[in-house]
Amino acid sequence: MKIAVLAVQGAFEEQEKVFRELGADTIQLRQAKDLDGEFDALVLPGGESTVQGKLLRELDMYDKVCKLIRDGMPVFATCAGLILLAERIAGDEAVHIGTLPVTVKRNAYGRQLGSFHYAEGEFGDICDFPMEFIRAPYVESVSDGVEIMATVDGRIVGVRYENQLAMAFHPELGGDHRIHQMFLDSILKS
Ligand code: GLN
Repeated sequence: MKIAVLAVQGAFEEQEKVFRELGADTIQLRQAKDLDGEFDALVLPGGESTVQGKLLRELDMYDKVCKLIRDGMPVFATCAGLILLAERIAGDEAVHIGTLPVTVKRNAYGRQLGSFHYAEGEFGDICDFPMEFIRAPYVESVSDGVEIMATVDGRIVGVRYENQLAMAFHPELGGDHRIHQMFLDSILKS
């Protein structure tokens, strides 16, 4: 299985490390021609969504990435990746990829609370998952068909919609790989 990780900015190496530990091959997507290679899934890492969105366009990767996702490529998105996917960003005109029918709120917990650790996360059937939040967004609302995978203090922090799995926290940082494994299993099943 080959996992392509968007590697223009942010925490892409951490994602590669986890997927490799789970036995997958990874490649980095740094420029448009990297998207022509063969791969089975796409990872949108944490980082800074405004920078990533800008680079996607400047590097001519934007249209190809949007098409891949619309055509059904499995996507695993964390934090800034969730913001890139969102169809709406609260209080912001910007939309990046826009394939995930949710509204996200960026830097949503205020300056102090944007970064915190939540030990008892539940993500679908996975319990006691350590969730690391770093200047995190949350999902303010979801459209029909979006499955809510995780909430923390009543706020939505994980969703699944068709081929897209997205979360506001950083599952690659807590040392627990069950969400990555769940994603790999879902690709094998489909
Ligand atoms: N605050 C960042 C943004 O708005 C996301 C932070 C992260 O990816 N850890 O893009």
